[in-house]
Amino acid sequence: MTDRVNILLVDDHEENLVALGAILEPLGETLVLAHSGEEALRCLLAQEVAVILLDAQMPGLDGFETAALIKQRAKTRTIPIIFLTAISKEEEHVFRGYSAGAVDYLLKPFDPNVLRTKVAVFVDLHRKNLELRRQAELSRESELTSARRESEQRYRALADAMPKIVWTAGPDGKATYYNRRWYEYTGLSPGPPTGDEWISVVHPDDLQRTLDIRRETLSTGEIFEVEYRFRSADGSYRWHLGRAVPLRHDDTGPIDFWVGTATDIDAQKRTQQSQEFLLRTGAVLAESLDYRRALQSVARLAVPEIADWCSVDLLEEDGSIHPLALTHADPAKVTFATELAERYPPDPAADTGVPRVIRNGEAEIVPDITDEMLEAVAVDELHLGLIRELGLRSYMCVPLVVREDVVGAISFVAAESGRRFDNADLRVAEELARRAATAIDNARLYRQAEERAQAAGVLAAIGDGVVLLDEERVVRLWNKAATAITGIPGEAVLGKRISEAWTSFAEALPRIPVGSYGAPVPADSIPVDAPAREIWLSISGVEFEAGTVYAFRDLTEERALEQMRQDLVATVSHELRTPLAAIYGSALTLRRTDLELDETIRDKLLDVISEESSRLADIVNDLLLASQLDAGTLQVKIERCDVRELVESAVESARTYLPEHVKLEFEKPGGEIPPVAADEGQLRQVVANLIDNAVKYSPEGGDVQIKLEPASRCVRFSIADRGLGVPASEQARIFEKFYRLDPAMTRGIGGTGLGLYICRELLRRIDGRIWVEPNDGRGSVFHVEVPVATERKRTAA
Ligand code: ADP
Repeated sequence: MTDRVNILLVDDHEENLVALGAILEPLGETLVLAHSGEEALRCLLAQEVAVILLDAQMPGLDGFETAALIKQRAKTRTIPIIFLTAISKEEEHVFRGYSAGAVDYLLKPFDPNVLRTKVAVFVDLHRKNLELRRQAELSRESELTSARRESEQRYRALADAMPKIVWTAGPDGKATYYNRRWYEYTGLSPGPPTGDEWISVVHPDDLQRTLDIRRETLSTGEIFEVEYRFRSADGSYRWHLGRAVPLRHDDTGPIDFWVGTATDIDAQKRTQQSQEFLLRTGAVLAESLDYRRALQSVARLAVPEIADWCSVDLLEEDGSIHPLALTHADPAKVTFATELAERYPPDPAADTGVPRVIRNGEAEIVPDITDEMLEAVAVDELHLGLIRELGLRSYMCVPLVVREDVVGAISFVAAESGRRFDNADLRVAEELARRAATAIDNARLYRQAEERAQAAGVLAAIGDGVVLLDEERVVRLWNKAATAITGIPGEAVLGKRISEAWTSFAEALPRIPVGSYGAPVPADSIPVDAPAREIWLSISGVEFEAGTVYAFRDLTEERALEQMRQDLVATVSHELRTPLAAIYGSALTLRRTDLELDETIRDKLLDVISEESSRLADIVNDLLLASQLDAGTLQVKIERCDVRELVESAVESARTYLPEHVKLEFEKPGGEIPPVAADEGQLRQVVANLIDNAVKYSPEGGDVQIKLEPASRCVRFSIADRGLGVPASEQARIFEKFYRLDPAMTRGIGGTGLGLYICRELLRRIDGRIWVEPNDGRGSVFHVEVPVATERKRTAA
């Protein structure tokens, strides 16, 4: 059956169109009617037309103008036009019709048969054209198909020759082709693809992600791209980058098919993974100073990323190997392996695995664990069976080396992942071991530093001076107490040889006998010249491998006290011996029967005895008083005292035993002397002491002048003599206990050195004070100030 073709009839008169329709009806074609030139043009835009019957006279666009427009368009240019007109067949008119592109010219009224025949010819012609066009199209299509088949074959040959996996898939994503590499890699048997065989070789952990991405790209038509592991023929998995692009006949049409490739990126992927792994473990190792805990974390990080199993073993000080960590993604397997190890403890002398790596300090790698190897390790059949159950495939072990000492090992084992360790993996493992070893070293150094810091803190806080000299006798440590005791700061001696930095100290250091290692050499008290004074140190020393430590203690004060004690014994015994000798001599003389002693001599001897006894009593009293002052047991009773009366009576009693060449003058004060607040008996003793001294230390005589005057809120008592005087350097020291001027300066004048000490101490207890100044030209002036009694004190008294 042939398709109907369109015949366009154009006439402004409806009746003409009806008539034309009736004439052409029998042709059995489709008649398209138009009532104007414009309508005719519109019809031509919408459909293909075999022939046009066009009325020449029409309002608006007439037939000729319409024909001209039809001829202008490329698509309608070749359509035959038959003009229909009622106008006479004038020459010019007809010409106009032909020049407008008419193929024929029919005058109304026309013969229906002629018209029908002419139109039928054009329809026929059109149909033939259509047929020709269709055939041309058909042959072009078949050419295309064969060209496509040819290129597909070329592509497949190319794809088969490619070293990477190539496949194609239909619009539904089902594989339609895999290249040769695919079959080589997967070990699957070649044959027409069913479409989903790839699913069986994708790693289970990567499958869901891959399916999700695939579903997404199938629906959007975007490029499919995913990183996944494919199982190879030997069962191990390798990372691949899968990529598939959709192909279409034309850009906007539906997807024809997909072309995919899978590139082996296992090496890059693993390098990247191991770098990430090293980074993560590095962070873990740096985080904590507890390296055991850090190593356990590292073992956890290693599975399943690097290996299926990871273990860390440490070498203990007693030589045993301590399993620090054992990890696997499945805790049940860890339990199983731990129990296995407990039941069959590893042989520490074994010539394989951890014991050997620790012994030799060399890494070990077994890319493929064979059954023979398992048999060699297994103790018995049962053991072998249990080991086989673990499915171990590949193994490597690296030593942990800290400063040339092997302290342990890290082991990695591949099992169910099907992974096979190679040298690249071993390098990662070694790098990890290096970092772990550094962490161990750091932790140890830190602990040592901390211990040292603690020790240094103790040394700094200790009260004894501590000095460390190295083998070259250079000062390496000089603690705070050493500075405090000697007055020499650390900067002055540290880093210097002690003999050059401080000779006197270096000479005082005890000699440590060779080989006395660690045994302290006891201390002696030795004088050392320090910058400010002479100090007495007791220094002991201990030698150890890096040098000698000396500890010393300041004994200067003890030494001074000891000196004082010795001085006291000497002075007191001397002071006691003189009166005792006099008493003893007098008593002996009195007892002699061979001598006639007259009354005067007897009285004199008895006077000597009583005077010397009272001197003895004075000395003993002074000693007693001094010891009470020291012990703080002396009672002080402060009351209002009339100091003027007190001084007058003291001067009076002194005059009774005054040597001839000394004169005692009390300058009577002009004004009133206010009462003072003091213990009267003790104040009297101070005044008497000072008068005694003034007289005693004026061996060549001279005037002793006593003055009493009010000062601000106190009364000042002064006593000036023309005696031996006190050198400026000794003016403070004569108030110290037992301190006496050099005998050469005092011309052998006796005394205990207690008088001025007692004066100072008694005055201190009543808020008074005492000091000495040189007397104009010769002798000295002692001043005493005693606070005035206040109103409040008066009422209290
Ligand atoms: P003592 O007189 O028993 O030795 P003191 O404590 O009274 O003890 O005096 C201490 C030292 O001070 C005396 O040994 C003496 O050297 C010196 N001294 C005290 N008074 C005088 C003085 N008036 N003139 C010179 N020297 C004095």
